[in-house]
Amino acid sequence: MPEPRAFVVGHPISHSRSPLIHRHWLATHGIAGAYDPLDVAPPDLGRFLSGLAAAGLAGGNVTLPHKEAAFAAASRHAGDAVAAGAVNTLWLEDGQLIGDNTDVYGFLANLDERAPGWDSRETAIVLGAGGAARAVVHALRQRGLAVVIANRTRARADELAAGRAGVTTIDWDRRDEALAASDLLVNTTALGLEGHGTNALPVDLARLRDDALVTDIVYTPLITPLLAAARARGLAIVDGLGMLLHQARPGFARWFGVEPAVTPRLRALVEADIGGGP
Ligand code: NAP
Repeated sequence: MPEPRAFVVGHPISHSRSPLIHRHWLATHGIAGAYDPLDVAPPDLGRFLSGLAAAGLAGGNVTLPHKEAAFAAASRHAGDAVAAGAVNTLWLEDGQLIGDNTDVYGFLANLDERAPGWDSRETAIVLGAGGAARAVVHALRQRGLAVVIANRTRARADELAAGRAGVTTIDWDRRDEALAASDLLVNTTALGLEGHGTNALPVDLARLRDDALVTDIVYTPLITPLLAAARARGLAIVDGLGMLLHQARPGFARWFGVEPAVTPRLRALVEADIGGGP
């Protein structure tokens, strides 16, 4: 049997922590397999994906900017891919390319682990309406929370909310007004991301309820300016690293046949790579 080989494909790809995570699991389980980062430009993605079997690849992860194109390229969709409208995990089944979206699972598993009982909350405000927001909104609806979306480009928020019960939108400029009625705030915008310009997320946390939970799916830095401000205000916070770690689990199980665990050791390894603990 050849060694199982998997990949993460993106453009660029050097920033990806997925190799660190999967190589840690390969070593932990003593699996003689490989997991490699591959930089593939958008015009070359179709050819790359149709050649997986010939290249001896079992499957892999998909990151920016390829998640929608991978969705279109998959012969079949599994799990939450259709609801998320994007694919981040691929594998071959009887020669067919199957695509899943494990960000929904990753987002929920992170909150379940770091803030047990979080889903007794009723109303979430989600900032942003990009690809990741689609997965987050679907996840929150799975757990029964009402969702209000505020996005800089209102049309994108409206498109995300369309046809989804329990999801409404407001203008970006009115986001602060919605905070008093929310007991969960989720940032899915790129604001707060290292290297993303003047990156503070303008939001008036004083308006949130004292028992509100604030979570940010941006995890570089681990404690984003939003999370630091929420913590200073005395609110419960959950960082986005656990989402990254948990979303990786289903793919590893598919390609390498072992269910891996998100352990404190793995978390510490990736935290050290990011460069800063809480
Ligand atoms: P995306 O599709 O490009 O969406 C970006 C979002 O950020 C959009 O809502 C965009 O608003 C908003 N935005 C960008 N610049 C802004 C600004 N200056 N002011 C206000 N809003 C702004 O990206 P994505 O795939 O959803 O990813 C978003 C973030 O989530 C990234 O930082 C990514 O690293 C992170 N993420 C984390 C995980 C995890 O596992 N923790 C998983 C997936 C993604 P417009 O629509 O108006 O442009």
